[in-house]
Amino acid sequence: MRLTFLGTSAANAYPEAFCSCRNCQGARAEGGRSLRKRSSALVNDDLLIDLGPDIMAAAQMHRVDLTRVRYCLQTHPHADHMDLSHLLSRSPGFGVVGAPRLHYYASAATLARADETFRRDLAGYGLFDPLAGQELNLELHRIEPMQPIQAGPYRVTAFPANHAPGCGALLYAVEREGRCLFYGVDTASLPDSTWQAFHQQQVRFDLVVLDHTYGPEEEGSDHLCARELAAHARRMREEGLLKEGGRVFASHIAHEGNPPHADLAAFASRHGYEVAYDGLPVVCDGLSGTA
Ligand SMILES: [Zn+2]
Ligand SMILES: [Zn+2]
Ligand SMILES: [Zn+2]
Repeated sequence: MRLTFLGTSAANAYPEAFCSCRNCQGARAEGGRSLRKRSSALVNDDLLIDLGPDIMAAAQMHRVDLTRVRYCLQTHPHADHMDLSHLLSRSPGFGVVGAPRLHYYASAATLARADETFRRDLAGYGLFDPLAGQELNLELHRIEPMQPIQAGPYRVTAFPANHAPGCGALLYAVEREGRCLFYGVDTASLPDSTWQAFHQQQVRFDLVVLDHTYGPEEEGSDHLCARELAAHARRMREEGLLKEGGRVFASHIAHEGNPPHADLAAFASRHGYEVAYDGLPVVCDGLSGTA
């Protein structure tokens, strides 16, 4: 499996539009890997994690082809992860050619929110309306935590996030041909029930992506900070959840305490993890990858 980071910022992108803090100024000056779009990721060329607001900008800038996407795992409905205009663009009125049927997976609470938003703001009909399936060439799938499902060639297991109570926020393990990756964005410290569920489900990861909203000098709160991420990576290694040679990447990076890419990557390398950047492909074959 290959995971390509389409975006690696927290909610407001990085640098933030109207911010002149030291980190945002530094990122503007450095450009390149320090410029982060809102979080989403692509597995191989057919499984998208989060229908984020910046997926088209990412596809254009990093020359990533989204025309083969058949499966989309939605973590939760926050606006930095879910932009439903991408679904509306699939309707015949927009002249889309050749798009394969899209299987869209989310928790019941996220689907309910998506249905309501789509009806109210975009189309006048909801995603649960039979018309939606036909117009958008779309199939909705409700996914429950700890109940693995098959999405085409992928086995997908959802785990509860510690994020936005009531939204049904989920984190995903995606397995194929003996390789397993974990996408852990958005979340604060993983709840004990999620750690236990990793063991109950007997998952062992080749690649882990974790929330890194707050930087090295910040405290974690509603999201993980750098030191909490490092502690999570250590615990995963100690508990055998990360395979030998497995890699841990930080994503969902905000300007709060996170310096531009090179400095943050240097901190991370001293603390047992790596820092993702937009457009980075990581091959999850148990060997050292392409970063
Ligand atoms: Zn977010
Ligand atoms: Zn800033
Ligand atoms: Zn969120």
